[in-house]
Amino acid sequence: MKNYKIAVLAGDGIGPEITAEAIKVLKVIEERNDVKFELMPALFGACAYFETGDAFPQATIDICDQADAILKGTIGLSHEESKKIPVDKQPERGALLPLRRRYNTYANFRPVFLPKSLAHFSPLKPEVIGDGIDLIMVRELVGGLYFGEKEMGVNDKGLRYVRETLEYDEEQIRRIMHEAFKLAQKRRKLLHNIHKSNVLKSSVLWNEVMEEVAKEYPDVQVVNYLVDSAATALCLKPTQFDVMVMENMFGDILSDQGGGILGSLGLMPSACIGPEKAYYEPSHGSAPDIAGKNIANPYSMIGSVAMMLENSFDMAAEAKNVWAAMQGVFADGYSTADLSKPGSGVKMINTQEFGDKVVE
Ligand code: ATP
Ligand code: MG
Repeated sequence: MKNYKIAVLAGDGIGPEITAEAIKVLKVIEERNDVKFELMPALFGACAYFETGDAFPQATIDICDQADAILKGTIGLSHEESKKIPVDKQPERGALLPLRRRYNTYANFRPVFLPKSLAHFSPLKPEVIGDGIDLIMVRELVGGLYFGEKEMGVNDKGLRYVRETLEYDEEQIRRIMHEAFKLAQKRRKLLHNIHKSNVLKSSVLWNEVMEEVAKEYPDVQVVNYLVDSAATALCLKPTQFDVMVMENMFGDILSDQGGGILGSLGLMPSACIGPEKAYYEPSHGSAPDIAGKNIANPYSMIGSVAMMLENSFDMAAEAKNVWAAMQGVFADGYSTADLSKPGSGVKMINTQEFGDKVVE
């Protein structure tokens, strides 16, 4: 029997609720296969800070180090609540970025998927959705502005100022490009390269390296897009995209927009892959506005489990079953509150019911 250790970092806000549903799914997969998932829960995020004074405590680091894969819920507090935590101990800066840095999870895959049959979930018109939205954003996850030097102070004129640096070296760009091209080869052989080279030097180097890497993948067609145009195009003609590659901050913003065109961030799972370790998380935040109400959509978290099964445990067939089970819940006319607005015809179920139906 195969034995996999999974560090489970449920986190803050809706994290624990949607993680519970993901675990239900792991349990049923265990029953169906010759596999044992050893779940290792650990504190991570604001909950860890309040309990230990550290958002990513040593005990959690040790558990993650031992794990074959990490399943992470969501972290963060509401704008008001977060004022109780010093800037450097904030869950994002004190836990999330250190997690990404520790395991060098440079490749973040964020599928944006909505079949034609679920066009009614989207705020876009059915004719815009056509045969369905099916694209993957490949986001560089350990470089750029989020990892640059940061400085805040008072300048010579006595004015408060801030300085943040955006840095990439060619190797960081090359490795994410290879990931994107390889993925494109497995799909429609179409890669949209997202940049802002008319303003940013970082995008000039980004594009240069992209062109060098492209020579190794002559079968992949590259289309260059300025990030701002890409934002418009995602709303007006999302079906033109298949694989999109972009730097860290562009990916943060455009992938939230990806959730927007689907109709909910709750439909956004992701995989964060490093050379030796991978972790899996919803693309969205901790949704403090709906936390503790049993109404969050666990699709993003269960989808992240599917990505873990395929990527970390070589269980592609079961991953497929998980996706199909979730689509089956939608096909039966059910969804959580985010996608079942009054008059939509969708029958509203809660977080736990969604998990139960997937398991069924
Ligand atoms: P972060 O900065 O961590 O990405 P954010 O500020 O982008 O967080 P989110 O926490 O992602 O904000 O939430 C944005 C909106 O999307 C909120 O209204 C939230 O309720 C909704 N939302 C996010 N995730 C889900 C989910 N799984 N189910 C239902 N609604 C969700
Ligand atoms: Mg966000």
